[in-house]
Amino acid sequence: MFDVVISGAGPAGSRCAQILAENGFDVALLEKDVNWRKPCGGAVSSRIFKYYPQLRKLKYTPITGMTIYSGDYHEISYSWKDVRDYSINVDRLEFDNFIRTTAIDAGAQLFDKNLSVDFVTKNKKKIGIIAKSSGGTKEYLGKILIIADGMSSKLAPKSGLKGKWKINELGLCKCAIMEGENSLDKHSMSMFFRAYKGYGWIFPIDEKRFNIGCGTWLEENLTTNLNQAYEEFLNDPHIKKFFPKVQYKEIWKGAYPIPALGVKEKCLYGENIMIIGDAAGFVSPISGEGIHPSVVSGQASAEVAINALENDDVSKQSLKKYKQYPNIKKIIRNFKMKVSMVEFLFDNNGQNLSKMFELAGTDDKIREEVINMFLFSIPPSKELLLKIKF
Ligand SMILES: Cc1cc2nc3c(=O)[nH]c(=O)nc-3n(C[C@H](O)[C@H](O)[C@H](O)COP(=O)(O)OP(=O)(O)OC[C@H]3O[C@@H](n4cnc5c(N)ncnc54)[C@H](O)[C@@H]3O)c2cc1C
Repeated sequence: MFDVVISGAGPAGSRCAQILAENGFDVALLEKDVNWRKPCGGAVSSRIFKYYPQLRKLKYTPITGMTIYSGDYHEISYSWKDVRDYSINVDRLEFDNFIRTTAIDAGAQLFDKNLSVDFVTKNKKKIGIIAKSSGGTKEYLGKILIIADGMSSKLAPKSGLKGKWKINELGLCKCAIMEGENSLDKHSMSMFFRAYKGYGWIFPIDEKRFNIGCGTWLEENLTTNLNQAYEEFLNDPHIKKFFPKVQYKEIWKGAYPIPALGVKEKCLYGENIMIIGDAAGFVSPISGEGIHPSVVSGQASAEVAINALENDDVSKQSLKKYKQYPNIKKIIRNFKMKVSMVEFLFDNNGQNLSKMFELAGTDDKIREEVINMFLFSIPPSKELLLKIKF
């Protein structure tokens, strides 16, 4: 019997496993495939360094700026004043292996090529996770069970805590890592809002490689074909100008869903169970940033599990502290505000955003407000909203 069994060794699960193992608990980390490269833009803000200071020593190109474009290509650029606040763009295959190895080095036991399929149930209580591997089916028993296996989780809908994702509460994204000569600023990311509910991005990784992708959002998923939107995005002259050559080496390509409506706060915990990361909706509804929030949920759930195990109380009441954890409360609050902003930004076929960027181009105060909104989650003033509407 393990103290904790975690399904999924992505950013959320690996962080959770690391903290538990560092504190002397027996952790089983089940992973379907360590060689899977999660489809992702790979942009990670400087907040990650608090959790993984070792990342500063790795050779990432520092990202110190961002340009955001409206659907009709009004643009607004911003550079970080303090270069220590730099973001990084990671290749998820390398990054996930780095954080997973950090968990293993701390003492977590990784069980690779193990696909979690269901719970082990005894007297109506979930006491473990059933996983399938080439060797057959195995049961991993644990005092606490943590669901960290992302959007494809088989356990989350079986936990009784949350239902299956509905198509109109997701973003559907497709992206690629490409290599070749380009004119991108290596220290700046670009984000392109579309005239429909959706956006695209180009994130430089190093001198030659960049991550490029786009997605449709919420009800747009029902009407816009993602493959078509992706091809249009790549071939749009405003985008193509950054990589004008005919041929680019496509190192990798993938498509995947992303939660788009914030944290499923009513579903986070139950009797000896917690749901963390993407599986619980820890993704920013505007930017799609989910790596840092997932790591925060991994950290919070681990600290709550440690407290519960030390007090020999793994009840639902005890695990409630996960939802009440200050950083989790902050994320929930912040994402709720962003959900309401998304409605406004995408309303009126992207015209609201265009007008906002147009106004920002002529008025420094509005520009500051817009930057604060996108980068520092400060909602725009009523005056600005009224100016845009009328
Ligand atoms: C196209 C796209 C672009 C994105 N761009 C960004 C970005 O630029 N920056 C950012 O911060 N976020 C981005 N995100 C969001 C980010 O990828 C996620 O929020 C983050 O990966 C969530 O981490 P996680 O650990 O919860 O889940 P995941 O990273 O999905 O990890 C889940 C792990 O569980 C494993 N697993 C799955 N099912 C099972 C199972 N049944 N049994 C065992 N193991 C299983 C998987 O192999 C994986 O290792 C993007 C997402 C998408 C889809």
